[in-house]
Amino acid sequence: MNLSKNVTFYTFGEGSLKQLESRIKERQEVNPGIVCLYVDHFFKDSDLISRFNKDDNILHYIDSTHEPSTDGVDEILKQTIEKLNGQKPSCVVGIGGGSTLDTAKAISNLFENKGRAEDYQGWDLVKKPGVYKIGVPTISGTGAEASRTCVMMNVKKNLKLGMNSEYTIYDELILDPELTKTVPRDQFFYTGMDTYIHCVESLEGTFRHPVGDSFSHQALNECRDVFLGQEDMMSDKNRAKMMVASYLGGAAIANSYVGVIHPISAGLSVVLDIHHCLANCIAFNQLREFYPKQHDEFQKFLDINKINLPSGICSNLSDEQLDRLYESSIIHEKPLINALGEKFKDVLTKEKVREIFSRM
Ligand code: NAD
Ligand code: ZN
Repeated sequence: MNLSKNVTFYTFGEGSLKQLESRIKERQEVNPGIVCLYVDHFFKDSDLISRFNKDDNILHYIDSTHEPSTDGVDEILKQTIEKLNGQKPSCVVGIGGGSTLDTAKAISNLFENKGRAEDYQGWDLVKKPGVYKIGVPTISGTGAEASRTCVMMNVKKNLKLGMNSEYTIYDELILDPELTKTVPRDQFFYTGMDTYIHCVESLEGTFRHPVGDSFSHQALNECRDVFLGQEDMMSDKNRAKMMVASYLGGAAIANSYVGVIHPISAGLSVVLDIHHCLANCIAFNQLREFYPKQHDEFQKFLDINKINLPSGICSNLSDEQLDRLYESSIIHEKPLINALGEKFKDVLTKEKVREIFSRM
């Protein structure tokens, strides 16, 4: 059984972002140096962030139009090192969604573990703790704030995989639901569904952990309150609930694996450049045979919240693209074994996987 670890410190509540300055100051007393902030580009010019734009901080905006890639992370690291100009980083702060939180985690690890981002894609390849990192999620669902990985696309290797390691967990979080007020509704839904899907996949799998299961059950309850309840999914109360669900879902997945939905979704991201959370929803929508009860519930979530998923995205694909979709899905052996057993390729044959994609 793996040794489990969770985030060490966290603050929760509306307006808790105000504490970031004092948390950074405290950190600088322990470990003097430069603060490296990575902030989602949505917050460029926002009042929230401008107070951190100081001469002695490095502030880098993350363009989350595309999800993080190994080459992109290497480039951001290079730019940060140039700006540091020989000075030491005191701490890394990530403010944004899963893309930004993951980028900040990867940079923190690479400060102390030399080499390129792709050298650490896999399980437990990061050998030394990175620079102290503080995470501030601005959209809820991926659980990146709590998980032990940071997902990156490796275009050359046709691979989407994270630096899975205990050092990839944030040291500290500021969970402020006020920050998620500005998220577009569709995006709020897609990203929120990532928690639901993580927990469904882990509870239906064979690699189980009693603590992880408990986190998952509670995260699912919070999701049901948010997406099936009377109140709008983005009310103040529901955004706070969703932030809790995301944190619990991320903690759950640290002790478990996903299932069939994520590998199929990864194919869509690698081959068609569809964002993770939307790709999950599109994949889940075609995987009723593996998760029938939960699929029915998902249909209710879509109806109640008036969300339309794109269709026809695979209707004009070439044979070569369909083959790549198959390859980039089936490569995810651990989750597929978790869901379907060692002989998962007998269930997910090439024809079967191509057929699933061609329905999307
Ligand atoms: P994201 O970071 O990709 O951002 C999605 C969009 O939301 C962007 O356009 C961004 O600008 C916008 N946005 C973010 N916060 C906003 C706000 N408060 N107001 C308005 N717009 C805002 O979103 P995501 O869905 O959280 O993250 C997806 C990424 O997370 C993928 O790269 C995926 O692989 C990764 N992921 C990581 C883990 C993990 O455990 N590390 C788990 C699942 C997914
Ligand atoms: Zn996910």
